[in-house]
Order: sequence, then structure tokens, then C-alpha cells
Amino acid sequence: MTLLRERQVKGGKRPPERRRGEYFWRLLFPPRCLTCQKLLKIAAAVPLCEDCRAQFSFAGLFCPRCGQHLPPRISCSCAPEAAPLQGLFALSWYEGVWRQVLHRFKFRGERALARPLGRWLGTLIEEETAWGPELVVPVPLHRRREKERGYNQAHLLARFTAEALGLPLRPLLVRPGEAPPQSSLSYRHRLTNVRGAFLYRGGLQRGNRVLLVDDIYSTGATMQEAAAVLHRRGLLVFGAVAAYTPRFP
Ligand SMILES: [Zn+2]
Ligand SMILES: [Zn+2]
Repeated sequence: MTLLRERQVKGGKRPPERRRGEYFWRLLFPPRCLTCQKLLKIAAAVPLCEDCRAQFSFAGLFCPRCGQHLPPRISCSCAPEAAPLQGLFALSWYEGVWRQVLHRFKFRGERALARPLGRWLGTLIEEETAWGPELVVPVPLHRRREKERGYNQAHLLARFTAEALGLPLRPLLVRPGEAPPQSSLSYRHRLTNVRGAFLYRGGLQRGNRVLLVDDIYSTGATMQEAAAVLHRRGLLVFGAVAAYTPRFP
């Protein structure tokens, strides 16, 4: 946690064409702090003001198999590479102020948050991991749920993550069935509720490295199931989320 907090997060490695589009966007829509909504400098690399940044707990890497929090670029001793999801990266924990930000994004219609969240996620994945993804895949939402909400927050997040990484966005998965929302179920039911929920609709070669993006990692059941479908097609899957829920025994 402290490792990331103490280091400067910069966007300097990205090619100029990827920075230019963002710069013009920011001229039109000046960036604001994600939590207190104070205006930020136009070139701010982190979408938080100084005060909020001092309070912010950066998360980083987690083992997708045992849930352990890991230092940057370190692999877990439990051999996560044997699991469908090879790695997991989160901006922060799903609690406190960050939980409120995610609620605004997911339930209160603030879809504009997708841009700063997704771009920040993409920048950090480039800087903090050695994954080298080749394309970005959003975790799909049920069509009916997307209609009710008017948008799929994971898709929006993935779009801007892909943009920051300079990668194509490929919605390779669909979610045709009707299952109860994960947030309405107990931990045990969440694990079985998503089984068989996703269908693959892509046509990629084996060996492609995929970044799977969702907004929140709770039990991990949704992302693990989505990763399993891509893994069965021979793809190497890494997961990225805006918020991680610590697992309690
Ligand atoms: Zn702030
Ligand atoms: Zn582990």
C-alpha cells in the first residue's frame, strides 16, 4: 500500500498522440478530484487533489488465487499462473470514500467518472505491471440491467483503460441469461450464480494477452468466471478493477 502511495504516478511513458487527445479533452472539461470534486491542474497525472491523495489508499496487485496483496511486479507463491486469471490489479479498496465514488459511478448515473477512472487504471497498469496486454475486454452486464441503467459501467471503464494503454477494446464476452444481481446474494450464492453466465463471441488466436476490466471485484466470482471462458479459448487473462473488496474469512 505504502509503496505505491510514496511513488509519483506519472504518465510520461505514453506516446505523445495518446496524451494530446486527453489534453484537448481536459481543456474543454477541466479535470476534477474524483472524491471531493475540486478543480485540478490541467496536466494532473492523478485524478485526486493533494488533500484527498494524502488520504487515499492505493491498492495495486493482488493474487487472483488466494487474494493476498502483493508488492509491484511480484508473483504470489501459490502459483496463480495455473489459474484462469493470471493477475489482478485494483486502484483501491472498496470501502470508505472510494466506495462512495464507485457508487456514484455505478448507481447514480455519473458515467463521466469512467474517463478519469479508466485512464488512471490504464496508466498504472502500464507502469506497475509487466503484463503487456494486447487487447482490453469488458466484463459484460445483462442486457436488461444495461437497459435499466442506461450504460454498462464496466464497458465504459474498459474503454478508457484501453485508450490510456493504446489498445483495442474488444467485447469478446456476452451475458445472455437472466440471473439475480450479484449484490443481492450471499457470498456462497454469488459463487454459483455466475457459473455458465458468459458466452464467448470472439475469434482470436491462442496466446493473446487479454486485460479483463470490471468496476468492482467483490467475491471475484464474476471476474473468475469471465476469465475462465477466455482461458478455455487459450487466452492469457489479467484482471483490472477500480475497487477490490478484501476477503474476510
Ligand atoms: Zn479532493
Ligand atoms: Zn496467492
